[in-house]
Order: sequence, then C-alpha cells, then structure tokens
Amino acid sequence: MTYDLIIKGGQVVLRDGVRQLDIGIKDEKISCIAEQITADAEEKIDAKGQYVMPGMVDTHVHISEPGRAEWEGFETGSKALAAGGTTSYVEMPLNALPATTNKEALDLKLEAAGKQNYIDYGFYGGLVPDNLDKLEELSGAGVLAFKCFMSDITSDIPDDFTNVDDYTLYKGMQKLAELDQILCIHAENPSVTSKLAEEFMKEGRTSAMDYPDSRPIFTEVEAVQRAILFAKETGCKLHPVHISTSEAIQAILQARREGVDVTVETCTHYLALTAEDVEEIGPYAKCQPPLRKAEDQAKLWDEFLAGNIDWLTSDHSPCTEDLKQAPLFEAWGGISGAQNNVDIMFDLAVKQRGMAVNEFADYIAAHPAARFNLPNKGEISVGKDADIIFVDPDSSYILKREDLYYKNKHSAYEGRKIDCRVTKTIVRGNVVYDAEEGIVGEPVGKLVSRK
Ligand SMILES: [Zn+2]
Repeated sequence: MTYDLIIKGGQVVLRDGVRQLDIGIKDEKISCIAEQITADAEEKIDAKGQYVMPGMVDTHVHISEPGRAEWEGFETGSKALAAGGTTSYVEMPLNALPATTNKEALDLKLEAAGKQNYIDYGFYGGLVPDNLDKLEELSGAGVLAFKCFMSDITSDIPDDFTNVDDYTLYKGMQKLAELDQILCIHAENPSVTSKLAEEFMKEGRTSAMDYPDSRPIFTEVEAVQRAILFAKETGCKLHPVHISTSEAIQAILQARREGVDVTVETCTHYLALTAEDVEEIGPYAKCQPPLRKAEDQAKLWDEFLAGNIDWLTSDHSPCTEDLKQAPLFEAWGGISGAQNNVDIMFDLAVKQRGMAVNEFADYIAAHPAARFNLPNKGEISVGKDADIIFVDPDSSYILKREDLYYKNKHSAYEGRKIDCRVTKTIVRGNVVYDAEEGIVGEPVGKLVSRK
C-alpha cells in the first residue's frame, strides 16, 4: 500500500481524545490511523508539536457573487476560509443577486462558484414571501438547508432577499417539514428594532453602547420563541443562527426538553468582542444582532462552556469599504470573519478557559457536519474525507490587514494578538494553505449537495 500522503506524529484530535498518531491518506480519504505508519507515501508531512484537527465546517458564510461580487467572491472568500482552517462551508442565500430563492438563482450561483473554491462548499435555499412554490425545487436541487429572516431587511432592489411574514414562516415550515429540511432563522423582532433605531437616531443616541440597546435582548428572545412555537405546530426542524444572548439559548434548551427538533449556533464575534470593543473598533465590528455588553457576553460564554450551544460559525458577512465608512447606526451590519474562527476560538476557549481540544473540535466540525447531514465531514476517522488542519498552540501573531484574503481587506480583529495559529489546511488530502507559503495549489473545492 502506498499512500498519497502521510501525516506523521501530530497530536491527532479524535472524537474521544487527543493522541500522538500517524494518518494515512489515499484517494482523498482518511485510510489509516495508527501509532506508526511505515508504508510509502507520495508525500510525508511532519506534524510534531501541532494539533491535527478536523477542519472547520462553517455553516454560515455569505459570498455575494454573482450580483454583488465587489463585496466578496468565491475565490477570495474561500481563500480566507482556507487560511483560517475551514475546509467546507455552507453559503447563505443572500447577499448575492439574485438571492437564492429559486432553482434558476441557484444555478447562477453554481455557475459562479465554478472552479473558484479552495475548499468544499454547499448552498442554502432562501424562504421569502413569494417563493413557497419554489422550496421543493430548491430542495430537489440539493440545497443543504433553508434560511429566512424574521428581522427587517426589506430591500427595494429587484431579486434581493426579503424577510418573512408570519404566514410565510408558518406555510414555509409546513412545507420544509414535508421535505425534511432544516429551517435556519435570523431571529430579531423587526417592528421593535426598526422603530427603536429611528427613535435612537432622532435623539442622537448613536454611540457604540447605544447600539445594543436599540436591538434589545428580548427582541431576539421573542423571535426565537415565536419560531419555536411555529416549529411545534409544523414539526419543522429549526436552527436559529448567530444567537447572541443567554436568554435565547435558555428558550431553545427549554424547547428541546419539550421535544422540538432545534439546534443553535453562535458566532466567533459574539464570544470574542463586546459592545465596549465597538467603541474602539467602530463599524467593522457592527453586526446584527449586535455585539452585546460585557456582562451579557459573560453569560453567553457560560452557555458555551456548559455545552448549551451546538456549534460555532463565522457569519462572514462582508461588504465594500465605503459601507463601513459611515456612522455606526448607518454602516453595513455584518462582520468579515471567515479567516479568524479556529485561531481566535482556540485561543479563547482552549488556551484561556481550558476547554478540551476534542470538545472544541466538536463545536467547529463534528456537530455542524452531523446536523447538516454531511457524512464525510467533521471528524478524523477512517473513511471520512481527509479535511484536516494543523493548529500550533505555541505560536502567536498579530493579525495585520495584509494577512487578509478577503476581497475587501478589513476585519474587526485587525491588530489583535492571537495566541495560536492555523499552520496548514488540507482539503480531501490536498494542501491548500500553509502558514509559511500562504495559499498553495489549485482551487480543489467541490460541491457538497444533499444526497
Ligand atoms: Zn448571516
């Protein structure tokens, strides 16, 4: 037996613990895991001193190509993900134009994605008020899940994404339950948040600390609870995205105890940054729901460390520089974060708070892969895709603008000292990123669609 690649002597992160092992890769799959693999290989990589982990499965990424390719493209976005230790991602049905709300729009995305991706990728379908009759064709075309907005994103641009009304949410959930699809929701009460924003701006209450008050915690909890009620009624699988508060997590846990099929994610930025940080960083750290105040973030950390949050995502939501060069309340509400999830969260959760490395791997890889039904992804075990990253726990660096692969090179983490580093990213046995050389090789990413 000759392997294509053998990874030697790393601290291999398995589901049940970490051990020093060799990994043999053949035909893009993990073919052998053993204490010593002495067979020949086309290539051998020494991983001593490195954690050898499953790559992140990021289920929340916005690439705005086609239609708004100046915000982010598949090439630049997937390079940033690869450099950050992500090996597969699921792309949101907004902010490209047209939004992914029917099969023709999905076909345009598939064509745009083409051969530009450095890592594996799949797509969401959108649920909007005028596409209840398109959900089945999107599901049949292989989207991995659906997404809707209970928040206000009304746009006057034709074919842009719009938020659901309660009727659409109800009928859409009925249909998605039949199709056995997960509905992911952006949960904020739009009538309260949009009026409060107007009121705050009129009164000149527009500081970084005012912003979370304009989108108060109960507006997230109310939307989550409403969606849970609809899920109970319809039997639809539910997944609230980018949850920012402990209060919403508690509502989700209660629903789960009552038998609702619901999971939940939070994003790196809700755990890594606070409203207090926005005072310094400004609009690069603006997102919706907002970054919460330190006292509220501490409660979200308690939920994460207690195992009450199923997985982490980036919600990479990029835009052009001009949309961030605006007063906080008017700037684009999205954080470019694709490139810094594994390193920042490893630093914060494992190094600073003592989370076990194999548990951390569940939150970036195994749990999202299981929920999104990606049987070849999410863990280091024989037969899985060889989607593997190296993390050097003893390396430290300061993130600089020139390190960023995004089309628009800004980040809320610029200037941040990060006390660990992703040193290699391997997608189905192909090295696509190395800390010394940067992005290497070809865009090997393949489409992952629903079986
Ligand atoms: Zn998003």
